Amino acid sequence: MIRYVSTRGPGDPKSFLDVMLAGLAPDGGLYVPDTWPEIDRAMQEHLAGAPYTLVAGTIMNPFLGGMISASTLQQILVDTYDGDSFNHTAVAPLTQIGPSAWILELYHGPTLSFKDYALQFIGRLFDHILEQKKQKLTIVGATSGDTGSAAIEACKGCKNINTFILHPKDRTSDVQRRQMTTVDAPNIHNIAIEGNFDDCQALVKAMLLDQKLSQDLHLSAVNSINWARIMAQSVYYFTAALALGAPHRPVNFTVPTGNFGNVYSAFVARRMGLPIQKLTLATNRNDILTRFFETGEMKPDKVMPSISPSMDIQVSSNFERYLFDLLRREQGSVNTLMNEFRAHKAFGISQEKLKEANREFSADRCSDPETITMMRECYEATGILIDPHTAVGLHAAMRTQEDPTIPSVVLACAHPAKFPDAVEQATGIRPQLPLHLAGLMDKTEHFTVLPNDLNKVTTFIRSELPK
Ligand SMILES: *Cc1c(COP(=O)(O)O)cnc(C)c1O
Repeated sequence: MIRYVSTRGPGDPKSFLDVMLAGLAPDGGLYVPDTWPEIDRAMQEHLAGAPYTLVAGTIMNPFLGGMISASTLQQILVDTYDGDSFNHTAVAPLTQIGPSAWILELYHGPTLSFKDYALQFIGRLFDHILEQKKQKLTIVGATSGDTGSAAIEACKGCKNINTFILHPKDRTSDVQRRQMTTVDAPNIHNIAIEGNFDDCQALVKAMLLDQKLSQDLHLSAVNSINWARIMAQSVYYFTAALALGAPHRPVNFTVPTGNFGNVYSAFVARRMGLPIQKLTLATNRNDILTRFFETGEMKPDKVMPSISPSMDIQVSSNFERYLFDLLRREQGSVNTLMNEFRAHKAFGISQEKLKEANREFSADRCSDPETITMMRECYEATGILIDPHTAVGLHAAMRTQEDPTIPSVVLACAHPAKFPDAVEQATGIRPQLPLHLAGLMDKTEHFTVLPNDLNKVTTFIRSELPK
């Protein structure tokens, strides 16, 4: 039975439910499973071509550690992915864009980004668990643009959940902001923080670590610090690789990265036995992760706004989960580096460890002008519109691809219509929002502007909750 440990402290191993309801470990670490379940070759052969929900059940079941029955899980999965929420029967379809290149379209959910794939499931799972426990939950989340709307869409109908989403004021696209702020439901609260995404994430972490607040309000997280997100995201790496010939041939993936969540889900899939050959992470001008893989030093810079705003991040939370693995799961060593990071705003690893990290990940960066060029070149070569985040990934994939016999998959993390200005600038074509979002630009917005101040934010949250 899988249990969960914190990346930072010993403490008793926790169950899946505890970990999902808590979000963050009390010592500030992130929860990780104590072992990696294996999906062996025979099972992979069996899953090739199977429906998304069947693959998802097989991948997720071992992580639940018996807390939810396989049949209940399957019901929730069918409700999530086979109902009206996703508009493609393949759920996460592959589109070929070159002789040995594909994009994995992760924008067929209600809010048009990959965040829906985990959050639509988690909303339903939370609802099921809270109903059984007769418990209420307050969700706090930080968003660089896409997590917020996906979480709001997933939770707006849940009567046991109150949701507070912090976004950096004026730093998301208009479409992204309106997808959050035009939802009019009594349990949904949008807060525009006068700061950047890292400030929002730091506020959320501080609230989760305040034991009294956390217990009073039953706080949990929907950011990828919550293990359930990582687990649910590993599924589409399996469906994509199996469709392209795994387990008989390996597949390369390139993942546009901000918080290191999605790319860490790929790493988990590889640890479970999926033959991922090259795993490339792609950053925009906020390239702290790429610099880390070049130098072995993790050192944040100032956050610079870019045309791929969902990746305007300098403190990548999930990196700590990978670090835990890289340091042979020694919590003491992770603690040392995290303390160093807090005290000196930087930490480094040995050259030997860096070599190991470079065997597991490739990394590349992409400037705004390169992003625009990539969107245009992709459109000219294939007639396909891609969003700026996908373009950052494609740019890296083309520069790191060495062996054309290995299929190369770039994750298309958002629909181009979420970023119409950048797409139009690159291609001359303004992508249209799907029908269910028509009228978005005319609806009334609901949000509260607050300073980057923990006290003000917690006071606001307490005052908004039903007594
Ligand atoms: C959230 C997001 C990312 C970054 O994903 P992480 O899991 O934080 O690395 C990249 N692109 C888009 C479109 C996103 O919404």
